[in-house]
Amino acid sequence: MSRIVYLNGAFLPFEEARVPIMDRGFLFADGIYEVSAIIDGKLVDNAAHLARLDRSLGEIGIRNPHDAAGWEKLQTELVARNGVTEGLVYMQVTRGVAERDFAFPKAGTEPTVVMFTQAKTVLANPLAESGARVITVEDLRWKRRDIKSVALLAQVLAKQQAAEAGVAEAWMVEDGAVTEGSSSTAFIVSRDRVLVTRPLSTALLPGITRASVLKLAAEADLRVEERLISVAEAYEAQEAFYTSASAFVMPVVEIDGRSIGEGRPGPLTRRLRELYIAAARQG
Ligand code: PMP
Repeated sequence: MSRIVYLNGAFLPFEEARVPIMDRGFLFADGIYEVSAIIDGKLVDNAAHLARLDRSLGEIGIRNPHDAAGWEKLQTELVARNGVTEGLVYMQVTRGVAERDFAFPKAGTEPTVVMFTQAKTVLANPLAESGARVITVEDLRWKRRDIKSVALLAQVLAKQQAAEAGVAEAWMVEDGAVTEGSSSTAFIVSRDRVLVTRPLSTALLPGITRASVLKLAAEADLRVEERLISVAEAYEAQEAFYTSASAFVMPVVEIDGRSIGEGRPGPLTRRLRELYIAAARQG
């Protein structure tokens, strides 16, 4: 089956989908994206992802071209056309195509809408069994990290540092505290069984998986504290993990070469991963 993508109202073979070079997403990273997971052929936490897409677009003054029902219809059709039962659906909206000028183009410029799917193993991810190693890096990003902008250069550089270090993720650090992963939310479980993650603010993305996991904490008999996590505290944590639409709940077994807890995925992290997957499957 050839790969089908969505571009501005049409489902097209991947090779035929073209965006003009004057697209503001290409020239200025002037756009927003979202990613939802697919398991058992169904979208996971999708209403929340679409709500965040709407909010991100609103924050930078791009009209949302579809309501949630409209988006979901397109996503469902794209997933079906590509026969994806497990993986991701990616959505991007940019401010559209106009002669290059920093300020917004004149009213009536249509946003560019792009969607594609990626088949990927999400559930039986071997990294969830072995546990991920992470490094800390400086957080080089701008001050509105709550907006899911396609301007991802700092995250690209952070992930490349992780790749060069042979580890799975980089945790970004500002003023001695972990902000979040380059493409994930950071959590620790402290030695007194408290689940800790940074409170929401403009300093980090409001992770959709983060919100779901916090709701499940009580079922894993964990108390929750939303507060800053210093790098020193992360090194000493009983357990650590990160969350994202594609990683779900990913155990962290090493930070900057230091073993976390027993040096293997912790029982509370495993429990949260199981609870998250069970909830996702129920829909
Ligand atoms: N923080 C950042 C910087 C991210 O890129 C992501 C992945 N989109 C996340 C957190 C996790 O968010 P979510 O659980 O909504 O995928």
